[in-house]
Amino acid sequence: MKTKTHYDPYSYDGQSGGESGGEYYDPGDTHLCGARVSANEDVELTRNWKYVTCKRCLKQKDSIDGNVKENEKAIVEDMGKMADWWEKEGKYEKDKSIQGSK
Ligand SMILES: [Zn+2]
Repeated sequence: MKTKTHYDPYSYDGQSGGESGGEYYDPGDTHLCGARVSANEDVELTRNWKYVTCKRCLKQKDSIDGNVKENEKAIVEDMGKMADWWEKEGKYEKDKSIQGSK
């Protein structure tokens, strides 16, 4: 079977090098293109579109790229929200869980 290469911006493909040492990212049940992740299928992941051979990925390149950017924006925003949340609620929640649980 031919190995299919999906696009995955979180993958470490070893070819782009230098980037802060490949954090492990679990793609879950489906690839970004919507194809199911199957354990017995030989797939590779790359964050370089040059190496992508999956037709679904290629067809959705623009929207996937867009999603990734949106995601990254959302993550940054979430982190901002989390910081706010901790400021406001964090202390209270922490106290409550210490006293409240069990
Ligand atoms: Zn794909």
